[in-house]
Formats: sequence, C-alpha cells, structure tokens
Amino acid sequence: METPLQFKDLGLDNRLLKNVKHYGFKQATEIQQKAIPLSIAGKDLLASSKTGSGKTLAFVLPMLHKSLKSKAFSAKDPRGLILAPTRELAKQVYGELRTMLGGMSYEAVLIVGGENFNDQVKALRRYPKFIVATPGRLADHLEHRSLFLDGLETLILDEADRMLDLGFEPQLRRIHRAAKHRRRQTLMFSATLDHAEVNDIAMEMLNQPKRIAVGVSNEQHQDITQRFYLCDHLDHKEAILNRILESESYRQIIIFTATRADTERLTEKMNQQKLKAVALSGELNQNQRNTIMSQFERGVFKILVTTDVASRGLDISTVTHVINFDMPKHTEEYVHRIGRTGRAGSKGDAISLVGPKDWDSFKRIEAFLARTITFSVFEGLTGKFKGIAPKKALKGKPVNKKTPLRQTKKPEKKKAPQRDKGFYQNTPVGDAVFIPRKKPVSQDDDS
Ligand code: ADP
Ligand code: MG
Repeated sequence: METPLQFKDLGLDNRLLKNVKHYGFKQATEIQQKAIPLSIAGKDLLASSKTGSGKTLAFVLPMLHKSLKSKAFSAKDPRGLILAPTRELAKQVYGELRTMLGGMSYEAVLIVGGENFNDQVKALRRYPKFIVATPGRLADHLEHRSLFLDGLETLILDEADRMLDLGFEPQLRRIHRAAKHRRRQTLMFSATLDHAEVNDIAMEMLNQPKRIAVGVSNEQHQDITQRFYLCDHLDHKEAILNRILESESYRQIIIFTATRADTERLTEKMNQQKLKAVALSGELNQNQRNTIMSQFERGVFKILVTTDVASRGLDISTVTHVINFDMPKHTEEYVHRIGRTGRAGSKGDAISLVGPKDWDSFKRIEAFLARTITFSVFEGLTGKFKGIAPKKALKGKPVNKKTPLRQTKKPEKKKAPQRDKGFYQNTPVGDAVFIPRKKPVSQDDDS
C-alpha cells in the first residue's frame, strides 16, 4: 500500500503547514491529497467526496497557498471568493479560513444575507483579500458596485449543486461574468455532484476541469449506521421519536422535519420533557439563527430541530445522531443530512422515519443507495403500515396480498393506507425542501 500523504508532502507553504499543525492534523484526507496538488498546479476542479471528509481544507489551503506565492492581479479586488449555499455554512467555512490565515496579514470578510448591507459595504471598502459569501448577497453587492471581481484569482463553489437547487443559478452566472478572465481558477466541491445541471454550469464556469471523485455519492458511509422505521402516522412517528430519545445514548442530535410547523411543535414537546431542544428555521432573523447555531455548537442545546436549512456542510463533531422525522424529497439531501454525523472518522447514527407520505421519497432513496433496506422495529411500537406496493401491482389484476415487501415479517393483513397527498401540499413548507429547482429565490432569503 502507498504511504498515505501527510500535509507536509503536498507542497504547501510553511505558514499554512504551521496553521494546519495547530489543528493537530498531520495526515491529509484522500480528497485533500488529490485536490491540493492539482489545485496548486493551477487546474480547475470538479471534486466530490463523502460528507465529513475534509473538503473545506482541500480548497482553502491551495487558495491561500496561491496568494502567498504570487503577486495579486489587483490591489483592491479580492483574491479569493468562496461561495456557499447557506449562511450557516458560509460562516463555518469563514471560521476555517480565518484559522488558516492565522499569523498572516490578510483580511477576510463574511458576506451573507440577513445582515446589514451598509456594514458590509464598509467592510468591502477595506478591500479584503478573501471573501466567503452566499451567492445572493454577493450578487447584490456586485449590482451595488460595492466590490469588483476583475482581479479575482480563485473562485470556489462549495456545495455547488445545492446552490443550483436553491435557484442561485442567475447569481452564480452574474458572479462568473464579473470575474471572467483567463487567469481565474475555479474549484467546485460537493459530496454530490452528479446531476446534469451541475455539469451544465460546470462546463460554463470551469476551464478544462480535472474531475476528482473520491468514492461515489451513493456508497455506504462506513462511519454512519443507517436505520429505518416504518410509521403509520404523525403520532406513531412521535412515539418512535420518543423511544429513540429514551433509548439511544447520544451527545447531540439533529432532527430534520419537512415543515416549519413540525419543527416548532416537536421542539416544544421535547422541551416540555426537558430535553433541551431548539428549533432552527429560515424564518428567524440572522441574529437569532447565529445565536441558535452557536449555542448548539457549545452544547447549550442537545437537540436541533430543523428543515433542510441545516442539511449541508455543517460540521459539528459532537452530533452523534441524525433523525429524519420526515424523509427528504431529494435523494442527495438524504446523503447530506445524514452526513451531519460521522464527521472526520467519528461514528454516527442516522435514523429515518418512513410513513405513508414518505414512501415515494423512501423508494427513491433506496434505489439511489442501491441496496435493500430492512426496517428496524421497536418493541411495542410496530405499526400497520408496511409500505406501498408498486402501482403496477395495484392495477388490472386483483391485488396480490402478499406483494413482496421485503421487510414484512408478518404477512400483511390489511391494505396499505391511502396516501394522503394533501400532507405536503396543505402544510406550510420548510426552508429549502420544497423550493422547486431552478426557480429564483427572493433576494433576501438565504442569500
Ligand atoms: P466536508 O466538507 O468534506 O463535509 P469538512 O471540511 O467540514 O468536511 O471537514 C470535516 C471535519 O474534518 C472538520 O472538523 C475538519 O476540521 C476535519 N478535518 C479536515 N481535514 C482533516 C484531516 N486531514 N485530518 C483530520 N481531520 C480533518
Ligand atoms: Mg463541506
């Protein structure tokens, strides 16, 4: 076997190595081993690797290295710009960037939606060398001419696919145009980069990119144990959730729900049981969101209940469990949600509750994972719902009562309940879950 590469073998500037050492990291992760040398060599990258595998440093380090080793194109324009889909993720990436800038005189700023625009204008007038931003707000600043990107050397898109899902394509194009010159280097990263839309924009924004894929996105994450429970209805889901909270030994949990209403309701119920839960939704103002995230990170709360606003990128090593109270609509989102645990080699549990309304999503996820999922059961909490037979079996010939639904231990006695199609349509939706692809979002949403 090859000797695994250490950071010091990657050709990085000593100042950066010193800061990496400060973290206590020696061994570079696989994505870092592959992406850093290629990026230092000036290549554009389209890179994917599983959640929690150290992608942030894989792009932050070569971006800084390049700035340390070369003269700036322009005195005023930023040298590096990192875009991320949510404010929370941008903030976290910014934190990592700041750590890596330790001991250097470069300035960096965070430019995200929900914060005071004029304060940001002032910060931009100090000509920071590095910017971490959400695309909407950054594009607003371009419109407002509070910054120019003609001198940009490195453009990085973290969770590129999610930015497209959220409808940021026009903003990404706008930013691309503002920084369109031959010497710009562009790097795209995500755990899931395989859909066609990403390819289209990548073709446009990247210049003969090198593709790096460490593993494949549907590969089973070795550090995350996945379990699935069948549920009849909301009350049943809550009963199972309670059982999980009673029986699992957890440090911190993130619970994902489909709707904001459920986020609030579950949080309230858990707090009545003194479980120290907090709800995070995109409806809160930015200060509230910041406070909640930092309290959760400090362990003030044990349980964070949220919609997909927190599914991407967030790295909190003490999250031992992720619970999908509702299944996500998009399969990639499943990968990202469960990836909030099992970070950087630690172990995690991902538990999903599958009710009649989740069935379609569940089947897509099962197909995506390319494996047969066996359902778990809690004693005394077995329900009636056993899945929905494929439509073909229901049409024409009489329904075969023994339609093989792998997991059923006891033969099915009753017909599966009717799907309640109104469930998703009639409830106020959560943050990003149901925003249709490609539809532009309002400028001050998560921009
Ligand atoms: P990703 O973006 O791939 O989901 P992150 O960049 O958020 O992953 O990194 C996940 C965690 O791993 C972070 O806490 C980070 O500090 C840590 N990490 C990064 N690189 C290394 C490394 N080489 N060795 C050990 N831990 C690392
Ligand atoms: Mg990341």
